Amino acid sequence: MERVVVVGAGLAGLRTVIALRDLGYAGELTMLGAEPYAPYDRPPLSKAILVGKSDGSSLPFDPAGLKVDFRAAVRATGLREGTLETDAGDLGYDGLILATGAEPVRLPGEGARYLRTRDDALALRAALVPDASVVIVGAGWIGAEVATAARGHGCRVTVVEQASTPVSHALPPEVARHLAPWYAEAGAELLLGERVAAVHPDAVDLADGRRLAADVVVVGVGVRPATGWLTGSGLDLAGGVAVGADLRASLPGVLAVGDVAARWSPRYDARIRGEHWDDALRGPLVAATNLAGGDATYDPVPYVWSEQFGRMVQYAGLSAAGARWVWRGDPSADARWSVFSLTLDNRIAALLAVDQPRDFVQGRRLADSGAVIDPVLLANPTVSVKMS
Ligand code: FAD
Repeated sequence: MERVVVVGAGLAGLRTVIALRDLGYAGELTMLGAEPYAPYDRPPLSKAILVGKSDGSSLPFDPAGLKVDFRAAVRATGLREGTLETDAGDLGYDGLILATGAEPVRLPGEGARYLRTRDDALALRAALVPDASVVIVGAGWIGAEVATAARGHGCRVTVVEQASTPVSHALPPEVARHLAPWYAEAGAELLLGERVAAVHPDAVDLADGRRLAADVVVVGVGVRPATGWLTGSGLDLAGGVAVGADLRASLPGVLAVGDVAARWSPRYDARIRGEHWDDALRGPLVAATNLAGGDATYDPVPYVWSEQFGRMVQYAGLSAAGARWVWRGDPSADARWSVFSLTLDNRIAALLAVDQPRDFVQGRRLADSGAVIDPVLLANPTVSVKMS
C-alpha cells in the first residue's frame, strides 16, 4: 500500500493518521477536511467555548512530523473505485478511510442556529447576551448543554422537547424523568411533549399552532452521518457507512471510523452508530491496523458523557426496552446517584451515573466484560460496584 487518503479532519481522521504512522505505515498520506481549520475537538464547543472558558479546542497536530499532506477547506465530493473526487481535483488511493463525521438534523424553516462546528459555537456565544430569550429545540445531550451555557450567560431559556422526557433517544422514561427537574432548578423552562413544526430566526412554531418568540433559536435534535457525497459510490450506506466489526466497508480498501461509521456489533448483534467521542478516539487504531492488513475488531460498549447544569452525566451501553433498572441512591433526594440496566441473566446492559465517577468506571468495566453480577449487592450503595 503506497497511497492512503483520510477524508475528514476531525478527531477520528486525526487519530487515524497518527495510528497509521505509529504502526509503521511509511507511504503517502493525505488528510483532507472541509473546514478551514486543523483538527479540533468538539465536546469543548459546548462545555468551554460556549460558556466563555476558551476560544478554541485545537487538537495537538504536527503535519510535518507525521508526514501528512493536510488539506484544509477541501471537500470530498464523490468516490469511484481507486479515486476520490474533491472540489480541488481527484486523488488516487489504495487505502481510504472515511471519517466525515455527522451533520445536525435540520428542521423546516430558516434562520435557526445549530451547534456542530467551531464557527457555530463562536457565533452562538456572541448571541447569548444577558436577558436574551433563547428557545432551544431538543432536550438531548446537546440541548441540555446549550441550555446550561445560556443560563450561565443570564439568558432566559426555554427548551422544547417532543418526547415526554429529556434524552429520550438514549434513556427510558423511568430513568430520564429524573433529569427533567434540573432545567427548572437552573432557571430554564422545559416544555415536554411539544412538537416543533418550523423554526425561524426569531421564533419557533409549535405543531399546535402556537408560536414562541425568541431572540435566539437553537436546534439540537440529533445528527445524521455525513454520507451525502457518497451516494452512487456503490458503498452500503445503511444508517451511515456500513462497516463490519473490523471497520471495513463494502468496497475494497475502504474503511470508516467515528460518527460516520455504522458498525456491526457482535456484542449487540446489531448495527450501531455511536455518535460519541470515544468511538472517534478508539476506533481509528483498529481501522489503521486493518488497513495495514491486520485482523482487529472494534466492538466496545458505547460511552458518552455530558456536562449539564453543573453535573457530570455518564452513560454507557444500550438499554433494551422493558429492561430492569437497579438504583444506587435516590434520584429524587440525592445529588449523586447511578442506575444500572440488567439483562435477564444479571449482566449490565447499560448504566447511567450522575456525579458518581467511581460507580461509572467500575460499572462500565463490568458491562464491558459481560460479568454476571448480584443485583442485591449492586443496589447497596455501601458496597462498591466492582464487588457486586
Ligand atoms: P467530526 O468531529 O464531525 O469530524 C468530521 C470532519 O469531517 C468535520 O470537520 C467535517 O467538516 C469533515 N467533513 C465532512 N464531510 C466532508 C467531506 N465531504 N469532505 C471533507 N471533509 C468532510 N461526544 C461525547 O461522547 N461526549 C460529549 O460530551 C460530546 N459533546 C459534544 C458537544 C458538541 C457541541 C458536539 C458537536 C459534539 C459532541 N460530542 C460529544 C460528539 C463528538 O464530538 C463526536 O462524536 C466526534 O466529534 C466525532 O468525531 P469524527 O471525527 O467522527 O467526526
